[in-house]
Amino acid sequence: MRAAVLHAPGDIRVEEIADPKIIAPTDAVIRLTAACVCGSDLWPYRGVESLDGPMPMGHEYVGVVEEVGSDVTNVQPGQYVVGSFVASCGTCEICRSGYPSSCVHRVFMAQVGTQSERALIPHADGTLVPLPGTPDADLVPDLLAASDVLGTGWFGAVAAEAGPGRTVAVVGDGAVGLLAVLAARQLGAERIIAMSRHEPRRRLALEFGATDIVSERGDEGVAKLKELTGGLGAHSVVEAVGTQESMQQAIRSARPGGHVGFVGVNHDVTLSGEELFFSQVHLHGGPAPVRRFLPELIDLIWQRKINPGKVFDLVVPLDEAPEAYRAMDERRAIKAMLTL
Ligand SMILES: [Zn+2]
Ligand SMILES: [Zn+2]
Repeated sequence: MRAAVLHAPGDIRVEEIADPKIIAPTDAVIRLTAACVCGSDLWPYRGVESLDGPMPMGHEYVGVVEEVGSDVTNVQPGQYVVGSFVASCGTCEICRSGYPSSCVHRVFMAQVGTQSERALIPHADGTLVPLPGTPDADLVPDLLAASDVLGTGWFGAVAAEAGPGRTVAVVGDGAVGLLAVLAARQLGAERIIAMSRHEPRRRLALEFGATDIVSERGDEGVAKLKELTGGLGAHSVVEAVGTQESMQQAIRSARPGGHVGFVGVNHDVTLSGEELFFSQVHLHGGPAPVRRFLPELIDLIWQRKINPGKVFDLVVPLDEAPEAYRAMDERRAIKAMLTL
């Protein structure tokens, strides 16, 4: 089958690799309907994460089950499914407590690869959610977004306790940040302040439900946000970047007693204990337990109440994955979808 494989920083090639095969009785193999490139794929692409040997890329997926192992009972061949970017058993104590992304048996799909025609899904029973039927073609981007960026933005908003009467600030205008805006709107937030300086992203943030836009970054962004919130800061802040600057901006943007949901994959962030101590904020985040939210998100998409697939502003065939990576790396695209 064809798959996008990273050979070295900046060197993505679409090439033939072996078709996935059922190994464990709990595995499934799916044929992808569409694939996509994630902001977190850019970390190894940029050489920030080290690489030992060629690596099949991708971790988001929607598709049709082709084959299941002998222990799989929740899904069957022919069913359309969506799953999280973390495969999880669904039965361990951590899964049952709502944190499948830290399942004691978890497998990060990035280690398996899904920018390909087919993908192996470990722990199929715990991981995959069958759709109510065959999705209309225009719902495919929305369902694909649910696999990671929507679920991650949603968790960011839930972790930040976005809800009625609350002012929510979102740091980061990538797909996750924009979908955290959508999530905050769905969760009933009163005011949603998106921090973005890029025109197409600001427009999408407003479309998703942002009420205010702040274009300043870092401490200037914090000052502007405080100005908008009577000097207090936001009740809820979603951090959707993962850098030192964005984490600091998020914590400093929250009011005492406020909540910060941090879902940007952290790279070399160090926090001052003293600053944390005096900030009096709640911090909650990490790899989003997307599987927990999937049934609800699929339902909202199926009923056409949300349209998260709007974050895909570049659609190219899988063979043009190198251009999809370049466009995202250069911030020419918010998120690229790969058609199959
Ligand atoms: Zn992702
Ligand atoms: Zn588990």
